[in-house]
Amino acid sequence: MSVMKTLIRYSLDLVLGSGKAMRIRTSQFVLAALLMLASIGVLFFMKSVGIGGMGDVRLWAACSTAGLMIVYALIRSGYSLRWADPSLAFVQMLFAIACNAAAFALAGDGRGVTLPLLAVILMFGMFGLSIQQVITVAVYGLMLFAEAILFSLLRETERTTYYLYGAYYFMVVIVLASSTFLTWRLCEMREHMRHQKLQLTQALEKIQQTANYDELTGAANRRHMLQLIQYESQRSDRSANPLLVAMLDIDYFKRINDTYGHQAGDVALQKFTKTVQEKIRVTDTLARWGGEEFLILLTETELDVGLICLERVRAAVAADVVKFAGSWISLTVSIGVTRYQPGEAFEKTLTRADEALYAAKAQGRNQIVCLQQSADTVDSMPDISKVKAG
Ligand code: GH3
Ligand code: MG
Ligand code: MG
Repeated sequence: MSVMKTLIRYSLDLVLGSGKAMRIRTSQFVLAALLMLASIGVLFFMKSVGIGGMGDVRLWAACSTAGLMIVYALIRSGYSLRWADPSLAFVQMLFAIACNAAAFALAGDGRGVTLPLLAVILMFGMFGLSIQQVITVAVYGLMLFAEAILFSLLRETERTTYYLYGAYYFMVVIVLASSTFLTWRLCEMREHMRHQKLQLTQALEKIQQTANYDELTGAANRRHMLQLIQYESQRSDRSANPLLVAMLDIDYFKRINDTYGHQAGDVALQKFTKTVQEKIRVTDTLARWGGEEFLILLTETELDVGLICLERVRAAVAADVVKFAGSWISLTVSIGVTRYQPGEAFEKTLTRADEALYAAKAQGRNQIVCLQQSADTVDSMPDISKVKAG
C-alpha cells in the first residue's frame, strides 16, 4: 500500500512538479487541458455519429494537443519563469479561444456546442487576468469568431443560414461583453479588498505601537517592559544568564520645565531617549517607566560590561545639548543598577534598582550606583561613575 502511495506521489511530483507555486501553475494547466480533451471528445463523437458539414477534426485535435503540450513544456520546465506571468494564463486563454473559434468553423451543424465552451474559457480568465488583458481577449475573440463565421458562410448558400450566423455572432458578442464587464467588476473588488487589507494592517500596526510604546518618546512603555521583564527573568532563571536592570532619572528635570516651559521638557525627553537608545545594544531595551524616569533591561550582560555600557549612556547624556527656541539645555542623568537574582520576585530587583538610584541622587547625581543583592550596603563605582562630563 505504501509502495503504491509512494509511486503515486512520485508520479504526481514528476508530472505536476513538487514546489507549491509550480503545483498551482500545472494544476491550472491540467484544468485547461481537461476542458480541451472534453472538446476533442465531443467533436470526435459528433463526427462519428455523422453530424453534417463537419471538417477535419483530426487535424484540429492534433494542432490543439500540440499547442497544449508546448504550454505544458514551457511551464513544467520552468522556462516560463523568465516571463511576467509564469502560469501563461493570458497565452493559454488566447490559444483556447483560437481553438474554440476553429472548432466552431469545423463543427458544421454541431457548431452550437462550441459556444458554451467559449463562456467557460472566459470564466477561467476572470480571476487571473487584468482588465486590459480581458479587453484584448474580447477584441481578439470578436475577430476570430468573425473569421470563423465568414469561413463557414463560404460553404453556405441558404439565406436563412446567414441569419443564423448573425445570431451566433450576436451571442458571441454578448458572451465576450459580459465576461469583460464581470472581470472589470472583479478587478474593482480585488482592488477594494487590497486597499482594505492595507488599511487594516496599518491600523493593527498603530494599535500595537500605542499598546507597547510611549507616544512622546517612542521608547517601550511600562506595560511592554513588564511583559519583557517577565519573559527575560524566566529565561534568566532557566539559562542562568545574567540580567541587569538599570533605573534612570533625569536630574533636576523640574527646573527645565520651570525655566524653559513644558514643551521644552517634552523635547528634552525625546532627545534624551534618542541619545540613550543610540548608546545601548539592540538586545537591551529602554522603557519610559513614568515621567522623566526610565528603565533599561540589559540581557545576558555581566555587571562589569553593563557598567561600561551605562557609563557610555551617562556620559553621552551629559555631553548632549538640547536646542529649544534658541536656548541650549543640558541634562544629566542618575542611574541605579542591580542584577536580577535567579528565582527572586522581580519587584525585589526593581526595589533594589530604585534604592541604587536614590543613592546616586543622594551622592550628588550624574553618576551610576550599583547595588549588589547580597550586600545591604550601597556600592558606588568611583572609577566609572564619578567621571562626569566637563
Ligand atoms: P531629581 O534630580 O531629584 O530627579 O529632580 P527632578 O526635578 O527631576 O525631580 P522631580 O520628580 O521633582 O521632577 C520631575 C519632573 O518631571 C516633574 C514633572 O513635571 C516632569 N515631567 C514628568 N513627565 C513629564 C512630561 O511628559 N513632560 C514634561 N515636560 N515634563 C514632565
Ligand atoms: Mg528627576
Ligand atoms: Mg523622577
